[in-house]
Formats: sequence, C-alpha cells, structure tokens
Amino acid sequence: MSKQFSRRDFLKGAAAAGAGAMTMGLTACSPAAAGNSPSGAGTADNMVLSDQTYRNLKWKFEVMPEEYPIPEEKITKTVTHDIIIIGSGMSGLCTAVSTKESGADVRVISAGKRPISRGGSNHAIGSKKQKELGIDYTPDTASGRHAAKVEKHSAACYIDERKWSTWINNSGPAMDWMIDKMASKGLKVCLEPGYVDPDGILTVPAASHSFYNEEVPFGMLFGAPLCAQAYADIFKDMGGEIDFQTRALYLIRDDNNTGRVSAVVAQNLETGEYIKYSANRAVVLATGDFSKDPDMMAKYSPWAWNLYRNSIDTTKVDYDVALAFNGLYPGDGHKMGLWIGAGWQKTYPNAPMINCGAPGPKVNSIDNFWGINLTSDGKRYHNEVTNFSYGAIAILQLPDHIAYSVWDSRYAYIQDIWETFGCSVNNENGILGATPEQMIAGWEADVEAGTCWKANTIEELVDKMGFKGEARANAIESINNYTKYAEQGRDEEYHVNPSVLHPIKTPPFYAARTHFGKDAMTFLCVTGGLRTNEYMQVCEDDDTPIDGLFNTGIMVGDYYAGTYNFVMPGQNLGGVCNCLSYILGRRLADQNFKFRSGRIQRVSTPEDESAQNDGSSMASLGSGDASYNDGVYSGTGSGGMGGDVKVEVTIENGKLASITYTDNETPEIGGKALPTLVEQAVSANAATVDSVSGATMTSTAFKAALADALTKAAK
Ligand SMILES: Cc1cc2nc3c(=O)[nH]c(=O)nc-3n(C[C@H](O)[C@H](O)[C@H](O)COP(=O)(O)OP(=O)(O)OC[C@H]3O[C@@H](n4cnc5c(N)ncnc54)[C@H](O)[C@@H]3O)c2cc1C
Repeated sequence: MSKQFSRRDFLKGAAAAGAGAMTMGLTACSPAAAGNSPSGAGTADNMVLSDQTYRNLKWKFEVMPEEYPIPEEKITKTVTHDIIIIGSGMSGLCTAVSTKESGADVRVISAGKRPISRGGSNHAIGSKKQKELGIDYTPDTASGRHAAKVEKHSAACYIDERKWSTWINNSGPAMDWMIDKMASKGLKVCLEPGYVDPDGILTVPAASHSFYNEEVPFGMLFGAPLCAQAYADIFKDMGGEIDFQTRALYLIRDDNNTGRVSAVVAQNLETGEYIKYSANRAVVLATGDFSKDPDMMAKYSPWAWNLYRNSIDTTKVDYDVALAFNGLYPGDGHKMGLWIGAGWQKTYPNAPMINCGAPGPKVNSIDNFWGINLTSDGKRYHNEVTNFSYGAIAILQLPDHIAYSVWDSRYAYIQDIWETFGCSVNNENGILGATPEQMIAGWEADVEAGTCWKANTIEELVDKMGFKGEARANAIESINNYTKYAEQGRDEEYHVNPSVLHPIKTPPFYAARTHFGKDAMTFLCVTGGLRTNEYMQVCEDDDTPIDGLFNTGIMVGDYYAGTYNFVMPGQNLGGVCNCLSYILGRRLADQNFKFRSGRIQRVSTPEDESAQNDGSSMASLGSGDASYNDGVYSGTGSGGMGGDVKVEVTIENGKLASITYTDNETPEIGGKALPTLVEQAVSANAATVDSVSGATMTSTAFKAALADALTKAAK
C-alpha cells in the first residue's frame, strides 16, 4: 500500500467547492428589524444604528418562527427516553455510545440520512498509541504544558480553560477508548507527524490520531466519516436506535421557559410527521455549526462572513454535508437553545476554522514554508515560519489577499524526506513522504500544469510571476535581501530563525501564488455558540445552567477564540467532539452525578432523585454490617476513565481487610481518587462509599468492581 495525495489535490477540491458556491449569489444579511423596529429607528434599509437601537432589535434567528409550536393535535406520536441526542455527527454519536455503554436509555435523532463527519485528525495527549511509538507527550511533560499554554495564549486567553483542562486531563484515556472502539470495527490508528518550529513556539509532538483502513488509507482527510459510521454501528449493536431524516424543530422547556427542558419536537423529513421526543433526564444538542445562516454569521463572526459571504452558499442546507468548503449547517441547535432562553458564548467573535495558508513547499503537512513569501507589491509581509491557519490569516490581512512564494532548487535538499499531506509516523498508513527528487518532479509537474513558475534567473522569474515596475524592483530586492539574511545568519526584517533561512540562489528558481477565492484560505466551519459550562450544560446569559439541556461538539461555546489555530492540530475532533462527548456520555448515564461545582445545579428529574434515594441501585454494594466468606475475590467495574477498573479484595474474619486495584485511570483525577475510595470502603466494610468529587467515573467503576467482588464473597 503506497499512495500519495498532494496538498494541491486537497486545494483543488476546496477551489471547486468554492467556485460552485460563487455562482449562487448573495443572501441578504441584515438585522431582522421587520416588525421589531423600535419607533424612530427607521426601516431596515435606511436604519442608522445606535447602541440602544441595536440592543432593542432582534435578529431573525433569535425569534422562534410563527409556525412553532406545532399544535398538539398535529403531533402524531410521543417517544420517551431518558436521554435524547440530536445530531449524528462525531460528537452526537460519541456521546451516544458512551452513554449507552454505561447502561443509559438513549435515542439519537438526526436530520441527516446517515452518520457524518469530515476530516480525520484527532488530537490527544498521552494515548497508548503515542506511548507505543515512544512519544512522551502528557499533560505533565514540558511538551504537554507548552502546547496547552500556546493554545490558550493564541486565543488571547478568551477561552474557557475549565473545558480545556477537562480535555487535557482525560484526553489519553478517552483516545484509548476511541482506539478500542474503532478497532472493534476494523479501523486502525496512525499518528500524523508533529510540527517543528525552530523557535519552539508552535512545536507540537505527533499527536493527531487518524483512523483508516485498507480502502481508505487517507485518514487525515477521510477518516472522520469512518469513525462516525463505526460509532453508529457500535451504538446499534448495543440496541441503540437512530432516527435519521428526523429534524429537530424546537425544544420544550417547562414552566414557560423557566424550568427543565423536557422534550424536543421534530419532523420526519420523509413523511412530514411531527414527533415529540420526551427526555426524562437530558436533551443533548449536537447539531454542528452555524455557517449556513447568513444572519448568525453576520452577527457572531462578521470578519469571516465579510470574507466568505460570496462563497458560502446559504441558499441550500444539506444535512449530510461531508467534505465541504462552503459552509456546513444553519445552526438549528443554536437557535433552539436561544428560543428557550440560552445565552450566547462570552467570546466574540466566534472563531472560524480557516486553513491552507501561504504557498510554497512545506516542511510539515500543516504548513511550514522555509522560503520567502511576497505580497503583490513584491515585499515580504510576515515571518514565513508559521502554520496552516496563521499563514492563512496573514494573507487575509493583505488588501488583495494574494501571496507569492519563491524558492530555489537546492531547497528540495534541506531534508531527506518531505512530509506529504496525509502521511504518518513510521508510514503506518502507507502514505509515503517524498524524496528531494520527488519534490522537484512535483514542482516540474506544477510548472507544466501552469500552477507554478520556473526560471533560471531571479529577474526572469519575477517577470514570469507578472511583477512590473516598482513591484518588480521590490520583489528582486526582497529576494536578494532574503539571501543576504540567510548568508549572514540574521533576518533583519522578520527575524526568521537563522537555522531555517535558506539562500535563494541555486537555479532553477521556482515560485507559486496563493489567491484567496481560487485555491486557498479555505473556510471549513465556524466554531462555538451557546453559553456552556464545563459539564456541557447549556446556560442562560447569567451562567445559570438550564436544567436538562446539554450540548457538545463544534457548537459548544467559549472553547475557541480568535481563529481556530491548528496549534494542536485535530484538537476539535479529538477534544470537544470526542473526549468531552465521551465524558458527557459517562456523566449523563451516571445517576449519581450531581453536576455540581459553584453555582451549577443538579440536573435531574424527580425520578432520578427517587431512584437515587431508595438506594435500589446500590443494593448489591454491601453494608457496614455485612459478613463475607474469607478469601480473595476479584471484581470488575466498567466505565472508568481508562476502561475497566479491576479490584481484588481480601476478606479476613468475615470483614473487608484490603483491596488492590488496577490503575489505568488518569493520574491527576482517577489515580488520586482510588486510594481514597479504598480507604473509605475498607473502613465502611462496604462498597457504598461516596464518590470522590471530580472523579465520578472512576468512583462509579470502582464501586461496581467492589460490588462485583463482594457479591462473590457474600455468604
Ligand atoms: C473539510 C473539513 C475538514 C475538517 N477536518 C477536521 C479535522 O481533521 N479535525 C478536526 O478536528 N476538525 C475538522 N473539521 C471540523 C469538523 O469536521 C467539525 O468540527 C466536526 O465534524 C463537528 O462535529 P459535530 O459532531 O459537532 O457536528 P457535525 O459533524 O457537523 O454533525 C452535526 C449533526 O447534526 C445534524 N443536525 C443538524 N441540524 C439538525 C436538526 N435540526 N435536527 C437533527 N439533526 C440535525 C446533522 O445532520 C449532523 O448529523 C473539518 C471541517 C471541514 C469542513
């Protein structure tokens, strides 16, 4: 198995998607003043806004459509489960598997016809795959601390660090769980190469996990749909039901939108039938992004909208949208939340996911060009050593959004093997890197195809690039200066690290151009949305959690800020879509989980409380007076952060004398909780001990394991 897929192929796909969208025309984008204009504010067409008028206005998407609520008599059936999950993307399906596996009663509904996702990079810190490959990257290693800190500061600290901390602390075990799940459906895992920054700032170890199989080795770009399908199959294997082509329309929040979210009303898109899905415990929104709603984009991500409004086709919504570069979803879940009183995230604007930055042959697959970049007036504009998204953002700051790159033929030999897009550590998926000779052959093919220029002198090259007059003189001067900087070991303009400054003086010379809207700076989606706490509870504007309502995946508020930055590549799928969804699933299934922290209230139904209070679920866990048969007994409890927790108990004189356990739990949370749990259990002579706060999953699994062992020891 040996395949190559070039960045150009990827960009071609992006350009085609963008070009198709260009022909669709614009959709109007203005605050929905109709019917809501305060007196004297004028009409939407001639309105002059002030702070006051702006605050009094509502956008169209903030107002529930008049046709809702659907009259009761038109709702043909009610389906009741403990948990209703809306969306069959990675986050919804991961939550579903995690919840169902923990024994909860859960149903998934989705407007789409099938499981869906896109891309395939899943970042994780400290997975078993990394350990297997000797990659020392954990929350406690310098590289782990460094990466997390750079992410935070890249976002100017406008992120909710509590959610990040939850991910970072649980990322390894959550990824191990995912690896096992995917393996059960025949998917293998490989690691995408890390990122090398000679200044160390953006350096990150190999941590993006891609899933692949023989038919689809390119997991980095096509692995996510395989994973979504695998989750759906696992869910169904466990008896879970997914109602596809069932679009959620609005939520029902009791007590006139002040109480618990108790149901969602949906429509079967094939039959038109309206169905009420009642949720005893929780409704989970996992409905993706809002890039297909022009008004939401205009309000929440205006700078991205101004750039991409001509290429995002808002006229059509495809609930099965896969690898697209012209918008994904219209924010149905966000709207449903807003209509029943949810707040919006604190960070403004919502961060778009934009990538494919500066042109030129890259040292890393997520960019890193060690040559010169020029504007169309022939001048340098940034420190070229940067990544996928930062490279794109720098070009988007230029007036015409055009950037050039220039390098020479010696550049091919600065490393023995070049990463290709989609390759992996140890070539595990069979996508190979490129030799210097293959790199040159690729450039020659580009020249042949007209996407790259080649010349024997710098002057000839800049002529071919179309530079004229002052711009031509600037370009020649910039390139010559760059060579001077390389030779003197000091970049006088942007201070590129001297170790990666390469003179541009060995003919033939090459150049390429990146042109926004044609082949680069692709828009993937927009991140964030509803106000969300670290338990994934959707909150009101004052941070009060809305009883019974959760959200997960890309729509979670305050997880990103500024721009999605690719510092920890694949952080979105690996972090908020998988790890946090996995944890949410475990918590939703755990009737004892109190969702407590500060002002956060218990999210539960009266039924939950009574089930908890009557202690029936604890019946097998023993009591302080119990007497057991002496001996050594083992027990297993599932659902710990690191998988099963196994215990071995020793009974002496009829009482619980000691407990040993296997510890695959997270060192910072579960690992610290286990000794406390053991101490409590031995002292109580029972498994009915309090869960350790913050380590609910470990506690529950430990208690289950202990109950299992004590049942075997019972007289
Ligand atoms: C080209 C491309 C490549 C990408 N590559 C990567 C990558 O490699 N790594 C990474 O981390 N991120 C990547 N992303 C981003 C990533 O794909 C998304 O962030 C991620 O898929 C979001 O997952 P999700 O579960 O939150 O939502 P989605 O996967 O978007 O799923 C939303 C689900 O909700 C359903 N839905 C929507 N509205 C309703 C409704 N009203 N009722 C019922 N169901 C509804 C949809 O049908 C869908 O099933 C990429 C994005 C693009 C566009």
